Amino acid sequence: MNKNDLKSKILAAFSEEEWAALAAGKEKAPVSDFNREILLRLREQDEVFSGEADDNAVAELYQTVAAFLESCWSDEPGAHAYVLQACAALAFLYQIPLHPQNKVHYESCVRNGKAKYFCPMREEKSGSVCLFCPAETTTELENISRSRCSEAAASRGPVSALVMEEIFRAGFQDAGIIPTGELIFYPDVRKTCEENRCGGYGRSWACPPATGTLEECRERVLRFGQMQLFSKAYLLADSMDFSCIGSIMKDFKERSRALNSRLRQQLHDILVLSNEGCGRCKTCTWPEAPCRFPEELLPSIEGYGFNVSELAEKAGIPYQNGKNTVTFFGAVIYNEKNDNRRRQLNA
Ligand code: SF4
Ligand code: SF4
Repeated sequence: MNKNDLKSKILAAFSEEEWAALAAGKEKAPVSDFNREILLRLREQDEVFSGEADDNAVAELYQTVAAFLESCWSDEPGAHAYVLQACAALAFLYQIPLHPQNKVHYESCVRNGKAKYFCPMREEKSGSVCLFCPAETTTELENISRSRCSEAAASRGPVSALVMEEIFRAGFQDAGIIPTGELIFYPDVRKTCEENRCGGYGRSWACPPATGTLEECRERVLRFGQMQLFSKAYLLADSMDFSCIGSIMKDFKERSRALNSRLRQQLHDILVLSNEGCGRCKTCTWPEAPCRFPEELLPSIEGYGFNVSELAEKAGIPYQNGKNTVTFFGAVIYNEKNDNRRRQLNA
């Protein structure tokens, strides 16, 4: 079946009255926000899909989801159509996982413009809806992390391996090590900050001028011997789709803060940089008062005068990940030898 025919079939599954109720959040049966969002996206956005959806697979998905709903949600038969059609749209049109990220905690990476998903909840048994989901098991991710950490342990030592392990645990997709002696601090990058095209200059403690002069940044970095650059790529609907940049940036920052927090529990002295400004508080205290959360403050990697594409090359990780993607970078700066106050995490 042509995917656009499947789209028409899904749209035709509900009456105009039901679509209006869905848009107003007033359906007669319960619908999750996730399924509502997917169905309304299909109806309201003028997306054209390319390729075919296998007829047998579509029929099997409907049967499997219907059987599942019948067995565990038989008291709400009116809700089933919303789940069925949302699952079909997710599996065959959008090709994204059938459950929301915040429920199943799947991870993703983007390579050459193509997204891959890894779900820790995936069930491989027959009759499971997971069999129709584009998310794979987390085995591949775990294997990548394990082999990269072993390489880091062999080439640099246990602290580098620990930093890399935490980078992958935080959901970043790439990491590479650069000795700090190879870093170049560019006055021109700082000049770009001053032009304030990003709107972050002079807005928080994470950006210049609050981060200090380039020389002060250099001194702060060169107290350490290693930098581990990390990155995550995100897929955009198309090259002009900037609507989701805010949420992508937030996701990257939250992962960076989680990484910083876990590393600070294990290592004595580190510096973690992230992309662009801070955004942790609604209104920053800069310059009137000190930062409210100095332990969580992640200065901007560009604000330290780094040319990020050059760092990516030195670290051996891709600077770009294909068409319609955006890749963000951060860095952990640490000493392999001096972190003798390492502590074990309970979790
Ligand atoms: S793999 Fe299974 S549990 Fe995970 S998102 Fe897909 S359907 Fe849901
Ligand atoms: S944590 Fe709050 S106070 Fe500190 S730099 Fe960020 S926004 Fe400003």
